[in-house]
Amino acid sequence: MKKVVKFGGSSLADAEQFKKAAAIIQADPSRVYVVPSAPGKRFGKDTKVTDLLYRMFHEAEEKKDFSETLNEIRSRYSAIITGLGLKGFTLDREFEEIEKEMLTEPDADFAASRGEYLNGRIMARYLGYEFIDAAEVIFFYEDGSLNLEKTTVVMRRRLERVPRAVIPGFYGQGFNRRIKTFSRGGSDITGSIVAGAVRADVYENWTDVSGFMVADPRIVSNPVRIETITYRELRELSYMGASVLHEEAIFPVRHEGIPINIRNTNAPEDDGTWIVESTCQKSGYVVTGIAGKKGFCTVLISKAMMNSEIGFGRKVLQAFEENEISFEHMPSGIDTMTIVVHEDEFKDKEQRVVSAIHRMAGPDSIEIESDLALIAVVGRGMKSTRGTAGRIFSALAHAHVNVRMIDQGSSELNIIIGVENEDFETAVKAIYDIFVLTQI
Ligand code: ASP
Repeated sequence: MKKVVKFGGSSLADAEQFKKAAAIIQADPSRVYVVPSAPGKRFGKDTKVTDLLYRMFHEAEEKKDFSETLNEIRSRYSAIITGLGLKGFTLDREFEEIEKEMLTEPDADFAASRGEYLNGRIMARYLGYEFIDAAEVIFFYEDGSLNLEKTTVVMRRRLERVPRAVIPGFYGQGFNRRIKTFSRGGSDITGSIVAGAVRADVYENWTDVSGFMVADPRIVSNPVRIETITYRELRELSYMGASVLHEEAIFPVRHEGIPINIRNTNAPEDDGTWIVESTCQKSGYVVTGIAGKKGFCTVLISKAMMNSEIGFGRKVLQAFEENEISFEHMPSGIDTMTIVVHEDEFKDKEQRVVSAIHRMAGPDSIEIESDLALIAVVGRGMKSTRGTAGRIFSALAHAHVNVRMIDQGSSELNIIIGVENEDFETAVKAIYDIFVLTQI
């Protein structure tokens, strides 16, 4: 049994959290590869070390004095080192190098990556594990995307000879051999890459919540936890998952059929949530999760006899493509098609898109509406259960929510409902209540 364990920033924010993480690792000898994030927030208004590092970079770039920020960062690490009682261990040399880089050639990715690099150094020392710099084992293509093939081969070969190691999250080696980071929250991706490369049995992702909840706890109080969710369900619920797990963290493990277990560093006894390829486990409720987001726009395009006009849809979509706008959903009628887009991405370009649609597709009319919220109701159990849609809509009607759009994915895994922004919370609560609360 081989497990890769990734600890998020709040799990390593100070020495006390470090000790909890170490106790978790030591409690199970199969937890052999550890991927740390940079120290996160210790309390609500605290600043993440990664944000301090970006601040330091900006100051250095503008040739301002960055010593105060550097000292703040240094003191975060000193407090951890002292709190862990690591005698004779310092990061002085590393900090000298950081300072030198900032003075000579400040680079944002290099600066940001030091958060996990330094935390990795401490973690390796504390555990007595080997430290492997992510820049030696993770590679990017020239266009900035991850070179998973090369990474997997190099990482696998390197780790074959190392039974236990700490590999810092969030960065690797760019095409130009300089440090390159993933997008924010990217340590989740590193953990997934390591798990995929060593063909781990489990990728444990330790964070500060006990997994995914059926609905957002800011909307529904004390929602029940999702025990098992499939990768596909999670994708459909991507509005929900983003804050717990980086979207791009799924691919490397999914590729190897490795499950992800989301766990809580502050409550290690909780089983957390399992993310798996497929399962015969029933989700307990017909619905696995409910998630949504406000701030969408709909573009309704009408044209008589649209259904028989070949290429109409392509021309419409081309108008969006040319303006570099991705669309979220596309429900259609016989003479209409609706494109649902993110309002903030769309609003500055809307008139350009409208004229492009007119130019390319010659519709009869185009109507734009805003303030739409989308809610995804997702569940692998929906396919075999009658009346799911009926229950959703009667719950919404009872809650006096007007449904503006409905889109059921053909996989029968999800139903997407569009409501007014202002009805969003009421709608999520109503759906949660009908599927979960009334079943408990
Ligand atoms: N430290 C980085 C961030 O704050 C990456 C991570 O924590 O996963 O985004």
